[in-house]
Amino acid sequence: MKIVFASGNKHKIEEFGAIIRKYIPDIEVVSMKDVGISDDIVEDGDTFEANALIKARAVSAHGYIGVADDSGLSVDALGGAPGIYSARYAGEHGNDKKNNAKLLEDMKDEADRSCAFVSAIACAFPEGSEYSDFTVRGECRGTLLYEERGCGGFGYDPLFFVEKYKKTFGELLPQEKNEISHRAVATELFAKKFCEMLGI
Ligand code: IMP
Repeated sequence: MKIVFASGNKHKIEEFGAIIRKYIPDIEVVSMKDVGISDDIVEDGDTFEANALIKARAVSAHGYIGVADDSGLSVDALGGAPGIYSARYAGEHGNDKKNNAKLLEDMKDEADRSCAFVSAIACAFPEGSEYSDFTVRGECRGTLLYEERGCGGFGYDPLFFVEKYKKTFGELLPQEKNEISHRAVATELFAKKFCEMLGI
């Protein structure tokens, strides 16, 4: 069986593949590029789940089982922001430095620092399939610090403190982060639901 992951991020595809292979050892996880899909996908959903489904369905429209994720940081005191706008919170897509600076500024007078990294993963089946499209959501709760700590990871990692390790995601080893991350939780939930649906 082959799954096409709707992302250009090789690392994400490998991480997803490693977890799903624990459940389905012979599953093949490839990228859109690997199967020649170069569609420009417009992510205009208003939830993580909606955006993940848009990407997964863009793949299933080509006759493959499509899988996609959408993730971000949700800060309680900001009503869930930056949320689906995490990658471009400060305006410029993928500028981690500016995004973190804006978040610290927006939160400078706020005592409630609770937040969560969220990852939604969607699965979409080709037209005529006996299976239904679905989504799962993984969360990892933490506390937003007042300044960055650690230089590992990416994005908001240096600001995201986790009680379990008493460190930020930016200070954890990749394998430590992968044990508890929102993506790991969502991928485990995905793998279980996928197997259940296909009767594997
Ligand atoms: P994407 O859905 O993986 O593209 O992530 C969107 C944005 O959410 C990223 O650009 C980051 O700003 C943020 N984000 C998602 N996951 C993480 C994470 O594990 N660590 C830090 N930032 C993350």
